[in-house]
Amino acid sequence: MMCSATNQLLIQHIQNDFFNLLTNSIGCSYEKFIIEVADILKTQLDVPVVSVYLRKEGQEAYRLYSNLPDVGLELKKCFLIEQTEGSIRDLIVQSFTSLDVRVIPLEKNSKTIGYIVFGFEAFHCYKDRLLGEISIEVVKCLSKAEFDHNISDEKTRYELLYNLTSKFNSSTDMNMIIRETIRTLKDNDPGLTYTLWLSQDISVDRDLPVKELSYDYDLPLESSSQAFMTGKMQIEGDSHNGPLKLYAPLKGKQGVYGVLEVLHPFHIHLPKKECDLVELIGSTVGDAIENVQLYQQSRKLNSDLQLINSTSQKLNSNTRLTEKISYMSSTLAESFQADEVGFVTFNECNHDENIILEGSSPYFETADSQLLISMVKQRVHKEKDDVFIGNLSSKNNKYCEKYKSIMAVRMTDYEQLDGLAIVLHKQSYFFSFDSFKLLQSLIHHSTLAFANSMLREELEKTVVTDYLTKLHSRNYLDKCVEGHTLNDKCGTFILFDIDNFKGINDTYGHQKGDEVLCQTAEAIQSALKGRGMAARWGGEELAVYIPGMICEEAFQVADSIRREIFRVTSPSVTVSCGVSSWNANQPSNGKELVRRADEALYKAKEAGKNQIVMAETT
Ligand code: GH3
Ligand code: MG
Ligand code: MG
Repeated sequence: MMCSATNQLLIQHIQNDFFNLLTNSIGCSYEKFIIEVADILKTQLDVPVVSVYLRKEGQEAYRLYSNLPDVGLELKKCFLIEQTEGSIRDLIVQSFTSLDVRVIPLEKNSKTIGYIVFGFEAFHCYKDRLLGEISIEVVKCLSKAEFDHNISDEKTRYELLYNLTSKFNSSTDMNMIIRETIRTLKDNDPGLTYTLWLSQDISVDRDLPVKELSYDYDLPLESSSQAFMTGKMQIEGDSHNGPLKLYAPLKGKQGVYGVLEVLHPFHIHLPKKECDLVELIGSTVGDAIENVQLYQQSRKLNSDLQLINSTSQKLNSNTRLTEKISYMSSTLAESFQADEVGFVTFNECNHDENIILEGSSPYFETADSQLLISMVKQRVHKEKDDVFIGNLSSKNNKYCEKYKSIMAVRMTDYEQLDGLAIVLHKQSYFFSFDSFKLLQSLIHHSTLAFANSMLREELEKTVVTDYLTKLHSRNYLDKCVEGHTLNDKCGTFILFDIDNFKGINDTYGHQKGDEVLCQTAEAIQSALKGRGMAARWGGEELAVYIPGMICEEAFQVADSIRREIFRVTSPSVTVSCGVSSWNANQPSNGKELVRRADEALYKAKEAGKNQIVMAETT
C-alpha cells in the first residue's frame, strides 16, 4: 500500500519532469509533446502502457497520441465525441488482454478533453485517486503547451503564406509556382498528401504532382470538380476512420484555375482556422497562376499582332499571286505547325470546280483533297461561317483519312475573289480556338492583297505591250512561244535578269532604275537585229524568243546581247542569262522551255552572275 507521502513525492517528480519538458521542448510539435508526456508517466509509474486520447479545441474526435505499445494490443486511432465514455472504456478494455486497464478522463473547465489509458501489470498499487491527481497535472501541462503551440502555429501559418507570396512575387514561370507550392506545403506538414488539379489549358512539367481536371457532365460532380465549378472549398470523407480530403479552389480575381487537394491520413474535425489556411493558400496560388496566364496571353497577343503586321507588309508589296500564296502557305504552316496549307478558289461559272492556287502545299494537288475541299465547302455554305473541326474522323471518315484537324476560312472580296484558305493537321484537336481566330485575322488581312494580284494579272493578260520598256508583254510572248513550238521546227528562249538591280534603285533612285531598264530593253532590241521577239518578263527580267535558232548559235547571240547591255547602260549593269532551245530531236512546249531557261538563269546567278548558262538537254 502506498502512503500519501510517497504519492506526494511521485506527483512532485512528475511535475518536475513536466516542467523540464515544457522548457526544453520549444519547437517540437504538439503531437510529439503529448507522446513525451505519456512517456514521462510510463517511466515515473513504471507501467508498460500509457497512452493519451485527446481532442483539440473544436475537434469532434479523440485522437490517439502514443508510441504504439509493444504488448500486443491494438488501440483505435480515434473515437468520435458522441461515443459515451462508457463505450470508449469498454472498447479500450476489450482490446487489452492480460493487463489491468484504467481509463482516466482528462477534464478541463468541467469538460472532458481526453483520456489517459494506463495498462498496469496484474499487481500494482495505484489507486484511481492518485491517477486522478496525475490527470490534473497532465491537463495543466498540456494546457500550457497548447497555448505555446497555438502561438507558434499562428507564426508558422503566417510564415508559410509569406514564403509563398514572396516566392510568387511577379513570377512568370508556371512550373516554378507549382513546384514551390508543393515544396512549401510539404515542408510545412510532411504528414499530409498534396495534389494540384489544374484546368486543361495550363501545361506544366510532367514530373510535378499535378493532375488534369476533367468532368463528365453526366456523372455527379466529384468534390474536386465541385470546388472548381463553384469556387468554394469542399470537404470530403466518408467514415471517421478514413482519410479526410480538402479541396480548395485555386481562385484568382477573374476565374478558378484548378483545385488544391489536401489529404489527411485520418478523418478528424479540422478547426476552422486550418480550413481557412488551406483556402487562403488556394487563392494565393490562384492569384499567382492568373498572373502568369495574363502575362502569357499578352505576349501571345503581341506576337500575333507582329505576325499580322509582317504578313500585311509582305503581301502589300508588288509581288505576283503565286509568290504571295507561297509566302502565306509557309507562314501559316510555320505559325500553326500545320501539315498542309491550301488556297482554293471556285470557278465563277461552275461553282463546283475548285481551282487550287499555285503555292498551296502538294497535298492539294491530289484527288483526295478534292473530296475534302468539297466537304468543307458544303459545310461553309450550310453554316454560312468559317469551319473549325477538331476530329474529322468520327463522322466524315470517307472524306479524308489522313487529316483530323481542319480550319477553313473564307476568302471573299467584292466580285474578284471567292475561295477558302484551308489548314490541316493529322492529329485530332491539334489547333486551338485561338489559332483559328488568328487564322481568320490573317486571311481577312491578306484577301485584298490576293484579289489585287489576281486583278493585275488578269489585266496583264489583255495587254500586248509593256508600258515602260515598250517591249512585248509577257503574256503576248508566252502565246507566241506556245504557237511556235506547235508549228515550227526549232527555236531558242533566253531569259535575262539584271544583276544587283536593287542596288541601282537604292543608289540612284527608282526613276534612274526605270531608265536603266529601258536602256537594257533597247540594247536587246538592237542586238537582235529583228531576228526574234523580246518581252518584259516581269520586274527587271527580260525574255527573248528567236524562232528557227538552234542551240549552238544561241550562246553567241545571248552573249552579244549581254555585252551590248553592259556597253549601253548608264550606270552600267550586267545581266545573268539562262538559255533553252528545242528542235525535232528535243521537242518541247512553252512552259517546259521557260522552266528550263529559268533553271539555267538561277545557275548563272549562283555561279557569280554576269554570265550565260545553257539549259541541260532533257
Ligand atoms: P540579283 O542579282 O540577284 O538579281 O539581284 P537583284 O537586286 O537584281 O534582285 P532582286 O530580285 O532582289 O531585286 C530586283 C529589284 O528590281 C527589286 C525591285 O525593286 C526592282 N524592280 C523591279 N521592277 C522594277 C521597275 O519596274 N523599276 C525599277 N526601278 N525597279 C524595279
Ligand atoms: Mg536581278
Ligand atoms: Mg529578279
